[in-house]
Amino acid sequence: MNILNDNSCSWINDLSPRLKINNLNDTDDCEWLIVGAGFTGLSAARKLGQLYPNQKIILVDAQLAGEGASSRNSGYLVDTTLNDGFTSNKELDNYKKKADIYKLGINTVKKFINDYQVDCDWNECGKYFASSKKEDKKILRNFSNTLTKLGFEHNLLSNSDLSKILGTKFYNVALYTKGGILLHPGKLVRAMIDVLPNNVCLYENSSLINWNKTQDLITCEFKNGKINTKNIIFATNGFLKSLGIKSSYNFPITLTASMTRPLTDDEFKSIGQPKEWGVLPVRPMGATIRMTKDKRILIRNTAEVHNPFKMSKFDLEKRSINQKIGIQKRFPQLPKDIIQSSWSGVVSRTRNSSQIFEKIDTNIFAAGCYNGSGIGVGTLFGEQIALKASNKNTKEIETIEARNKPTWLPPQPILNIGIKTRLFYERLRAKSEI
Ligand SMILES: Cc1cc2nc3c(=O)[nH]c(=O)nc-3n(C[C@H](O)[C@H](O)[C@H](O)COP(=O)(O)OP(=O)(O)OC[C@H]3O[C@@H](n4cnc5c(N)ncnc54)[C@H](O)[C@@H]3O)c2cc1C
Repeated sequence: MNILNDNSCSWINDLSPRLKINNLNDTDDCEWLIVGAGFTGLSAARKLGQLYPNQKIILVDAQLAGEGASSRNSGYLVDTTLNDGFTSNKELDNYKKKADIYKLGINTVKKFINDYQVDCDWNECGKYFASSKKEDKKILRNFSNTLTKLGFEHNLLSNSDLSKILGTKFYNVALYTKGGILLHPGKLVRAMIDVLPNNVCLYENSSLINWNKTQDLITCEFKNGKINTKNIIFATNGFLKSLGIKSSYNFPITLTASMTRPLTDDEFKSIGQPKEWGVLPVRPMGATIRMTKDKRILIRNTAEVHNPFKMSKFDLEKRSINQKIGIQKRFPQLPKDIIQSSWSGVVSRTRNSSQIFEKIDTNIFAAGCYNGSGIGVGTLFGEQIALKASNKNTKEIETIEARNKPTWLPPQPILNIGIKTRLFYERLRAKSEI
């Protein structure tokens, strides 16, 4: 099935269109095939290209490279998360394992942007976990204890501090963590496409329909062509399940976001001219909201079970109205119609919020399921799955493999009923925060 994305994502539209797009129209052979050209697949291809300069590596994507979730996210490169799924952070040891992976993810992205001198609006300004509900202070105090034990620099804030920093009186309590970076995801992923090694052949608008392994050869069927490969890495994240990869362990979730036009000088003054900031919700289904470097406001406040291949214009507009309300609630002094674009994107989840990083079979590997931390963890997992597939061991692989493994999911229709019920409950709980 084809992935039909909207073409209204501000991060993508900020960039100049790419030239030289190759589609697969024939039969090709390679040593390595990577399916999916987001942070994970691009990083795997870059690493394999460096490891094997004389081997042929093919990277394919069903749409334009990087234009899946990797360009469509909120641009938080996180060191810590409060709501990574609906599991609690009670178990300190597990939380530390997760945070160790986030740290490696940040380091991997940092190394990439330093090595290739990438401008992606990198801002080490930290982030806020904020709520309008005073009673959420209890959750933040518990979170603060966890962060203190693990040595993360942070502090708790109240309404008066927040209104000065964020330019909105909406939030009553927050926890600020010093770690964590805000960036332009479209620019970052574009840089990963631009620096692909010469021995990586990129085919776009080429959707893998079927694949089959016989002895040492993996045969992959596309709409207009075929690829025979010795090794394959699946990096399709929200579409792992639709390709039959670890399908009892992951499921797709569709998110939508909107971005305003840049605020005028007067509008910006009316909210107190805040510096760039990013807020994550305390309650899982609350809004992620961000003030960008160029004075635009981004809001993401939906997460749902939806057809991952397509969202109609009508469905997207309905969600955009919700986002307009979310902005008005926080910034009543701003004009009502300042949303410039709205888009959807697909992420992948597991039951216990753990990531997939593994050998599926001889010469078959997969990485994905990062929920809201795929910028760093996807870049890390992409590079490391390439190394694992090359039979190499690294300290990073050891850290990744020390995590809890994804747990088994019940079959359909029980699975969808369970997810929908949970999302409905969390949406109710976060009603004021949307
Ligand atoms: C609205 C939104 C907000 C988010 N906010 C954040 C955030 O602030 N911070 C953060 O770290 N993460 C965030 N995320 C999650 C993050 O974007 C993802 O975890 C990350 O992009 C995963 O990268 P990936 O390369 O694994 O997958 P993707 O970027 O989804 O790439 C997978 C690619 O596989 C391709 N593909 C799928 N099926 C096939 C097929 N059959 N054949 C060929 N190609 C195929 C797709 O076209 C796609 O390009 C957010 C996501 C969304 C949607």
